[in-house]
Amino acid sequence: MTVSTAHSTGGWSVVREPAPEAPSAVFEMECTTCCHSSGATEDPQAAQAWAVRHATASPAHTGFREIVHRFWRALPADRGVGEG
Ligand SMILES: [Zn+2]
Repeated sequence: MTVSTAHSTGGWSVVREPAPEAPSAVFEMECTTCCHSSGATEDPQAAQAWAVRHATASPAHTGFREIVHRFWRALPADRGVGEG
């Protein structure tokens, strides 16, 4: 099992999405007061900048939830991905 393999059982493994076009992660900030969101972006600093702009525009909205999406794929173990 490699670092990119999260779980392996029953002849299947879950590995980080191997597609080259897949981002390693997508970030989003959500206001915990009104649930408005930065929208998804591959740049975590862009999501944080949105939170600062949101708090500046609505000073009572100072709490945020960061949502990070990472992409995975389940593959049969005989495909050989994630072993090693
Ligand atoms: Zn808000």
